[in-house]
Amino acid sequence: MIKQPGLCTLCATECFEIVTRYDSGFPHLEGRVRQVANPLDLAWRVALVLFDGSHADLTFCEDCLPEVENRIPEIYRTMIESCQDEISDGFRGNVGLNLFSEEEKAVHLQMLLDRPPLGILYKVKWSEVYHGH
Ligand SMILES: [Zn+2]
Repeated sequence: MIKQPGLCTLCATECFEIVTRYDSGFPHLEGRVRQVANPLDLAWRVALVLFDGSHADLTFCEDCLPEVENRIPEIYRTMIESCQDEISDGFRGNVGLNLFSEEEKAVHLQMLLDRPPLGILYKVKWSEVYHGH
């Protein structure tokens, strides 16, 4: 699974108001969330502590929140697949970014492979920390 802005990392439930999605002008991204606004009441931000002590902030819906700790391997796989997507020629070419060389792709992916998530650092409702722009 690929992470999308404003959607639950585990079940892809909408956790933020969706403003726009990519249309057919973006073949690699068509249908995916492009822009979000305010968080919905069911949205939680969970900070996962990573192997090197840094952390990654991810979004989960209320239903998935109690499962985060037990499903970290699955969440990590989604993080890896999302990274592989974001460094791909299809993604970067489609949003007008310079393509990565194979070496640059390997470096980006290795940074993630070196830092698997270990557990939850903290969790907070998105509505308490974010109020849109
Ligand atoms: Zn969910």
